[in-house]
Amino acid sequence: MTHHEDNDTDTEQPAPAIPDETRADGVARVLIPERDIQHEVQAIARELDGEYRDDRPLLIGVLKGAASFLVDVMKHMTIPVEIDFMAISSYGASTTSSGVVRILKDLDQEIVGRRIIIIEDIVDSGLTLQYLLDLLRRREPKDIRVVALLKKNKPNAVDVQVDRVAFEIPDEFVVGYGLDYAEIYRNLPYVAVLDPEVYSEASVKAEPE
Ligand code: 5GP
Repeated sequence: MTHHEDNDTDTEQPAPAIPDETRADGVARVLIPERDIQHEVQAIARELDGEYRDDRPLLIGVLKGAASFLVDVMKHMTIPVEIDFMAISSYGASTTSSGVVRILKDLDQEIVGRRIIIIEDIVDSGLTLQYLLDLLRRREPKDIRVVALLKKNKPNAVDVQVDRVAFEIPDEFVVGYGLDYAEIYRNLPYVAVLDPEVYSEASVKAEPE
């Protein structure tokens, strides 16, 4: 499936203003406004409705980052669906993905013979998704589709299955709409880039006395 180009991120509109509210403290720039996200969410829900009409698909989200996206897609689907979540943690340094993950919470159900839709927040190196796909394929579902909210433009990312991307973004650290920095910013309704001061303040705080 080809990347859906129908979004406003690369048109020449002025950057949306940062709302004056405390959950936005530290936000430098809104990268994808709420309106654009919701537009794509509805388009994706309609596509999935059409593809899975008689199959009762299982939407699988990885906690916690994919929670907002999964719930919004689910709410706009009109066919019967089931949802489930996994929680995983990466081994090794937290800043780079090693692709080796530990399962903290597994699915509640068997997926053999089921039609699976993985709802991902962001594909960066692609290693986490690759690991997850290998793991789920071994459980012999009927098929697996991958829908990602964001995919970073990264030339050295692994070649992993992603069937539908809502937004391709530059290789920057982003927060909002489920994605966090140190567990905050998940409740922003848009995707944003943080002021670099946020990171430097955090590293000063983290320094031993
Ligand atoms: P990958 O294995 O594709 O390199 O990393 C995927 C995971 O890293 C994502 O599911 C997400 O948890 C985290 N991640 C990667 N890039 C970002 C980012 O820009 N912002 C946030 N908040 N998390 C990210």
